[in-house]
Amino acid sequence: MDIRRSGAVTSERWLACELHTHTLHSDGRQTLHKLAMSAAALELDWIALTDHNTTSGLPGKEEIEQATGISILNGLEWTTFYGHMLVLGFEEQGYADWRMLGPGDLALGLREVKSLGALAGLAHPYRVGSPMCTGCYWEYEISDWSEIDFIEVWSGTFPAVRTSNQRAFALWTDVLNRGYRVAATCGRDWHDSDPGAVEPEPVAVTYAGNDNPANAIAQGAVAVTMGPLLTMTAAAAEGTVAGIGGVLPLTEQSRSIEVSIRLDYECRASKWTLPEQTLEVRLVGNTGVFRTVAMPFGASHAMVSIDTDGLTWMRAELHGVMNECYTMIAFTNAIYCELG
Ligand SMILES: [Zn+2]
Ligand SMILES: [Zn+2]
Repeated sequence: MDIRRSGAVTSERWLACELHTHTLHSDGRQTLHKLAMSAAALELDWIALTDHNTTSGLPGKEEIEQATGISILNGLEWTTFYGHMLVLGFEEQGYADWRMLGPGDLALGLREVKSLGALAGLAHPYRVGSPMCTGCYWEYEISDWSEIDFIEVWSGTFPAVRTSNQRAFALWTDVLNRGYRVAATCGRDWHDSDPGAVEPEPVAVTYAGNDNPANAIAQGAVAVTMGPLLTMTAAAAEGTVAGIGGVLPLTEQSRSIEVSIRLDYECRASKWTLPEQTLEVRLVGNTGVFRTVAMPFGASHAMVSIDTDGLTWMRAELHGVMNECYTMIAFTNAIYCELG
């Protein structure tokens, strides 16, 4: 049978990425070399360097990549009075300046980001803004979400329990419900890798299902977790398979699909802890939570059949107790359903 695939079904390996970091080139308290060494100690594969309004930390990164084994993605945190935007994956160490743009001028800045061949994403959109953190709260009007590649829905350590992140997560859900295919990522907003300065709290990691995280984010092939890696694929009757970020074509006659849910407890296993428990995977889409699956502790696979009636997108969420809180522990990006 000819199996058609889309999304992250063929990737051999998910890459662990920290997509929001700062160094001495802006307000971070670490060199890029120290940051990369700390990333290696956390068993990450990639970091994106996203200093505020500067790319001056990037020249010479190859030497650090070789010394530490960490790949470094070109990035920048475009920092304005009306919001912070993560810009990821430009080829040149380009710089476009929209610090001076007003709240109605977002499109101008986005045009410049696209001209650099880069991705644009909202950073911590609901973090408390002025006077605590100038411009941290997102205030630009977004009329066309197709210009936005991703939303950093989880920011900081133990991100799932923070109200500001829950609001960002709800914003992402709303954008998906409106028919836009926008990815969701996390970022620690890592300023200091001095062990004494790191809160002893779970840290979420963005997993990218591709060789280059920017390509993976562009395809939505992204999973986010504070613990085990949660992924899924969906298969339609005609032998079509879609992974995270992919599109599953459906017909009126074959709207029933098989969803394969996987939990990988080996991923960075020494970097997180969970008490032994039965975990819950929720399948969520534009129709709300449409299926819950109990996962005995350590179980790595579950298959469920679902009727996709009215479903335009779905994601998986892992819920359970972590750090003495019942919380979302992990989520996948969306698989999209298209009725042909
Ligand atoms: Zn910021
Ligand atoms: Zn930042």
